[in-house]
Amino acid sequence: MESNALSGRLLDTAGQLNMQTARELLLDVYQDLYGPQITLANLNELAGDLSRVVGRSRPWTGKFLHSIIKQYAGFSTNASLTKALTILAARLDGLNEIQAQAQEMKGLLAINELPPGTVILGLARRCAAPGCPVRFVPTHPRQKYHSKACAALDRRQKQQPEARSQKRVEYSN
Ligand SMILES: [Zn+2]
Repeated sequence: MESNALSGRLLDTAGQLNMQTARELLLDVYQDLYGPQITLANLNELAGDLSRVVGRSRPWTGKFLHSIIKQYAGFSTNASLTKALTILAARLDGLNEIQAQAQEMKGLLAINELPPGTVILGLARRCAAPGCPVRFVPTHPRQKYHSKACAALDRRQKQQPEARSQKRVEYSN
């Protein structure tokens, strides 16, 4: 009983040290992503991300992360969570790098809602339908037209042999 209590105390000390490091890392990662205000919704999202990073079958919860931040007794971090936090922190460094390269653009129009700081990696191209002035960032590499209507219009124009032969006649005159 005596020796158990002693080894328990030693484990607690080591555990507390690890917990302190993981807690600081957790707070760093959280604040990088969401700013200073801690909400359960953000913690839930972060818990999901961390779980995916290390491929956990039973994902961590936002409440679990909250308990670590609040340093509730009985909640300790483990090597797996520290690993996930370390990986995510490295990814955030990569994010900061790309945000430093990116520049703010005025006059962008978005079909879907883009959260502040969204980095658009694609190149803008002009819609391939003759006369259509729309420039867009395609949703897939081979997208030529900004809309189905433009694609249909262009296809119809290319499928009109009369129009082409008329043109030929005009040119030959
Ligand atoms: Zn178009």
